[in-house]
Amino acid sequence: MNIHEYQGKSILNSFGVAVQRGLVADTPEEAVEAAKKINETTGSDWFVIKAQIHAGGRGKGGGVKIAKNLDQVKEISSQILGMQLITPQTSAEGKLVSKVLIAEDVYYPGDSEPSEIYMSILLDRATGKVTIMYSTEGGMDIEAVAEKTPELIYKEVINPGLGIQGYQCRKIAFNLGLSGKAFKEMVKFVESLYNAYVGCDASLFEINPVLKTSDDRIIAVDAKVTLDDNALFRHKDYAAMRDLSEEDPTEVEAGEAGLNYVQLDGNVGCMVNGAGLAMATMDIIKLSGGEPANFLDVGGTADAKRVEKAFRIILKDEKVKAILVNIFGGIVRCDRVAQGIVDAYKNIGDINVPIIVRLQGTNAKEGKALIDESGLKVHSAIVLQDAADRVKEVMA
Ligand code: GDP
Ligand code: MN
Repeated sequence: MNIHEYQGKSILNSFGVAVQRGLVADTPEEAVEAAKKINETTGSDWFVIKAQIHAGGRGKGGGVKIAKNLDQVKEISSQILGMQLITPQTSAEGKLVSKVLIAEDVYYPGDSEPSEIYMSILLDRATGKVTIMYSTEGGMDIEAVAEKTPELIYKEVINPGLGIQGYQCRKIAFNLGLSGKAFKEMVKFVESLYNAYVGCDASLFEINPVLKTSDDRIIAVDAKVTLDDNALFRHKDYAAMRDLSEEDPTEVEAGEAGLNYVQLDGNVGCMVNGAGLAMATMDIIKLSGGEPANFLDVGGTADAKRVEKAFRIILKDEKVKAILVNIFGGIVRCDRVAQGIVDAYKNIGDINVPIIVRLQGTNAKEGKALIDESGLKVHSAIVLQDAADRVKEVMA
């Protein structure tokens, strides 16, 4: 689950990570109130106004701006709130901004060279270990650094049994060229950031930039935080941070129906029970010259209701030219599933794409017979290769 910058920063802060202070606002008036409150602690009239959307590159798209007094806070917030923010990471239409973060300006005026550091923590699946990636070349062009000068990005691998060690934090601070107070601050920063990563069950932290101020403080200025969905059951307060308006509406609808659905770019829709079978089915589609339009696991109980819902969701995608249903009847009987498919087909009415159904397992023959006798535009198969050939046929 992705969350907004302001939410990520509040999690980091709760683990003792130094963050740029800020308050979130929904309206320009709230933005001004937020700025006044921040001024009470900082005494500064300069603020940074930051669009809250689930995409990076906001600075490049005009979603991060400096305000030098309260009037500008109001003016800039009204510009950013309600805008369709287009960044290198959004689609061409951009994303609607409905919240702004009003934050203290931590780049002091006269600070000729604020140093922007890149730091991320992720689980390296190749080694199975949490890895910290960092670079002195933080800021808005880190992608270019990764591409052109990858040697400037360092990695520190954490032993899961031991957790992060003091020498590792010191090595990071040293490689970042820090000394004195900044060095000590960085050691604390890295340790608390790692503890936050493990403590909140994150799958990704990307803090770009981590700022070294001219008075040698180390502060998280940005925070991209992805939490592990599978661990949300033990973080009820984080689950409430979910922003459904940022997610694909069809995926949200599928989730509510208990279907595991991921939209893809291809033209053959699939409906399968079991994640492994879904993967294999996508392979078969590719082998027969199609491209999967989605991943859809209807789960163990492929009953008529779920099958109908799944059809409706797949059919929302206009790119879908055929649907392959691949169900293994273990606990669920194939004739039940077949009846579900026939009922769903009739209920939905105008289905204009061919449907290929492959049923295997308990009562597969009875299931196939039900489909063949239904008189509907549904092709049945028992052997997977048969189903693949049918896909090829209808796609030709
Ligand atoms: P992103 O573009 O979506 O990654 O958003 P960031 O939060 O990283 O902000 C983009 C850029 O805005 C940063 O790289 C900074 O250069 C700049 N920025 C962020 N906070 C401040 C601030 O407090 N003061 C100033 N002057 N610039 C800031
Ligand atoms: Mn950033």
